[in-house]
Amino acid sequence: MLKGFRGQLFDFADNDSTDNTVAKHRYYADGLLLVEAGKVVAAGDYGALASQAANAEIMDYGTCLIMPGFVDAHVHSVQTKAIASYGKELLDWLESYVFPAETLFEQPEYARIHTRFFLEQLLKNGTTTAAVFSSVHAAAAEALFEEALKLNMCIIGGNTWMDRNAPEELCQSAESSYELSEQLIEKYHNYQRLHFAVTPRYAITSSPDSLQLAAQLFASRHDLYLQTHISENLKEIETVHHHYPNHHNYLDVYDNFGLLSSRTLLGHGIHLTEKELKRVADSKTKVVHCPSSNLFLGSGLLGFYRMQRHGIELAMGSDVGAGTSFSMLQTLQDAYKVSALKGEPLSAMDAFYAITLGGAKALQLDALIGNFDKGKEADFVVIDLSKDELIDYRTRDTSLEELLFALMTLGDDRVIKATYLMGERWTYYD
Ligand SMILES: [Zn+2]
Repeated sequence: MLKGFRGQLFDFADNDSTDNTVAKHRYYADGLLLVEAGKVVAAGDYGALASQAANAEIMDYGTCLIMPGFVDAHVHSVQTKAIASYGKELLDWLESYVFPAETLFEQPEYARIHTRFFLEQLLKNGTTTAAVFSSVHAAAAEALFEEALKLNMCIIGGNTWMDRNAPEELCQSAESSYELSEQLIEKYHNYQRLHFAVTPRYAITSSPDSLQLAAQLFASRHDLYLQTHISENLKEIETVHHHYPNHHNYLDVYDNFGLLSSRTLLGHGIHLTEKELKRVADSKTKVVHCPSSNLFLGSGLLGFYRMQRHGIELAMGSDVGAGTSFSMLQTLQDAYKVSALKGEPLSAMDAFYAITLGGAKALQLDALIGNFDKGKEADFVVIDLSKDELIDYRTRDTSLEELLFALMTLGDDRVIKATYLMGERWTYYD
């Protein structure tokens, strides 16, 4: 059945360029998105598409803004309970709050309930695609894939590998992490909308043997992802040097094991040096900017445009539990504040590109999602600016650019009227 969604339509055109600055937006004040069997059939001006839409069932969203679903490229499904935990920097915060929270995910029923809550928080905030770290446990990773499957969400995920420098109950041998990953790949990778990422947490909790095995698994298929953390915090970097004294720098640890590639997602990267950034760019490795988390843990300020000048593809991550909101709008607000402190304010267009088509490109998923090109999977959000009186007041009679900037500065889940996955509206009760 052909379905139509009418409203203000906004997305970015795919121009086959990795240069974010030339991304072109498309906007129709009275637009129509046509969807059939979960895929985009057409998107454009309502009047121009009227004849094509003659037999469609039309949902009229009036003046609401319809845009592609948001991409959260770095988030933890097992840390929701640790969100808003007081007073620590990265390494102490992990010890005090995160590791205890992750330990509970050994239990399948606990893992299922809390993962479901996590995924629904993403959807409530308009996030339709996410790259997710779970815990070391089979139950946590299985819950992530099974619940995402039920919701029909596009998820990249994997079991987190840790074999040292973490509580005993959270350490698993590299061999058993490898085996678990293999089983999960067999069962879930490329099944429906699921993708597998080899997920060593970071160099501190991975022994050389563990990184070696992770690299071996990553190289075993061309279509896997690899996600990890890097250069988030200065003490973390010092500790990595202590554990890997023979490597030139933090990036070199991952590089040496063969973990850098166009399918590698490095969370944070705040303190990467010029030399490291050059190597990130040369290897086509992606960086995921997590500004909310970076501010909350006092980790530092990443230069968005510094990355761009190096030609590095950037995506955005909420990084909950260190991030303080599941909302990618709030994440953009923090990205703006960080960029302002760096003296190069982030534009609204670059910001929204990063959480839609740019995010999809960084995750190598732009053939499937990210904008309203014909044939793409119809994941989208409906934004009602009138839901909040201040946002309504601020965005009336403004330019599109001003409207988007006010939306990312003032908006959050309150303005998300509906979230659609492959043309179907998500509700809590499915
Ligand atoms: Zn993280």
